[in-house]
Amino acid sequence: MITTDQALEIILKKAKRLEPVSVPLIESLGKVLAEDIVSGDDIPPFANSAMDGYAVVASDTKDASEDTPVELEVLEDQPAGTVATQAVRKGTAIRIMTGAPLPDGADAVVQVENTISGKDQRVRHGFVKILKPVRATNNVREAGEDVKRGEIVLTVGTLLGPAALGLLASLGHPHVKVFRPARIAIITTGDELLEIDQPLQPGKIRNSNAYSLYAQVEQTGAVPVKAGISVDTKEALARILKTALGDADIIMTTGGVSVGDYDLVKDVLDLLGAKLEFWRVAQKPGKPFGFWTYEGKSIFGLPGNPVATMVCFEEYVRPAARKMMGYDLLFRPEVEATTTNDIKKKPGRIHFIRVIVEKNDNVYTVSSTGPQGSGILKSMVLANGLALIPADIEFVQAGGKVKAHLIDQPEDH
Ligand code: AMP
Ligand code: MG
Repeated sequence: MITTDQALEIILKKAKRLEPVSVPLIESLGKVLAEDIVSGDDIPPFANSAMDGYAVVASDTKDASEDTPVELEVLEDQPAGTVATQAVRKGTAIRIMTGAPLPDGADAVVQVENTISGKDQRVRHGFVKILKPVRATNNVREAGEDVKRGEIVLTVGTLLGPAALGLLASLGHPHVKVFRPARIAIITTGDELLEIDQPLQPGKIRNSNAYSLYAQVEQTGAVPVKAGISVDTKEALARILKTALGDADIIMTTGGVSVGDYDLVKDVLDLLGAKLEFWRVAQKPGKPFGFWTYEGKSIFGLPGNPVATMVCFEEYVRPAARKMMGYDLLFRPEVEATTTNDIKKKPGRIHFIRVIVEKNDNVYTVSSTGPQGSGILKSMVLANGLALIPADIEFVQAGGKVKAHLIDQPEDH
């Protein structure tokens, strides 16, 4: 039996980055960039107005005030998306909208709030009274002030968020290279398993692991591959494992990995030539957890008990899959918390206790969600954290300190 730290270390050592794939920009949110992005353009591509107002020669406005406005002839109207047909000269202005290119000759924009426009029959666009001076460059966004052409704007390893998608869009990238999402096969084993649309029969239960794991894989940003239920024969299990090995980067089995007569996962993986990396971890739930490798693929033999399966996914499979998908941050936040209830356990294994974590005035507390049997999903449903009680500890009194993993929070280390 090895420790949880040893198990995690072995698993992460085997998790190698997957190759880059090109995806439509719109599908890249939350994925990890697999290429450096060098800008082919200045952003903004041209100097433009930051305000609705009047493009002017700044020196014209030097003496403007509410009492002594400076009157300028308006040459034309320039909405965003258009280019002015004339240059601004001394004594003139062009009415300009936010985002429109600064006309030739102009070096500043007076915002509309500091002007009074006047119709005048003598000229087509009238006159404008400027009530406040501007200096050169006021209310002008320079070409390239956001991004210069040739600049490296995003580097390999960047987690793509909404702003990065916007930047890539403004640079004209309809597709982007990201690390490929891991394909994770889910094999459930057991003669007792029924599909979930079946009525219960004597001795049978519905297959819940396939669904909780599918959901966990999706939440990891990986691709779940439904490999199906295997009955407890070596032939059936070998067949389903072979197919999954051909179709996924990570293979998970549930059940059949303990010491019972029908626990065939170890034997069958051995027959297939997979390399056993470890079997059994000093933890509860999830002691019979095993890990194998085969031609660069990782095979997780997860326990059958529904909570053991979920905890092992959370603590081991998820970080490994994230590493394969290029993420730097692999682990959920770990906090120190005060337990609100006594915790009693046998020594020898780490216990992961399902808890509700609360934070008040920067102090965390954890409270057990109820019965902790490894098959009791209801207390897992309520949990937003797993409290870790070290192997050698037998008792933590209410008010004592424990570590907890925040399993509903994004990874932070
Ligand atoms: P095993 O390790 O195969 O003996 O399974 C341990 C326990 O988990 C048994 O009570 C199984 O019935 C249960 N179990 C195994 N696989 C599943 C599954 N896919 N869904 C729900 N319970 C399961
Ligand atoms: Mg079984």
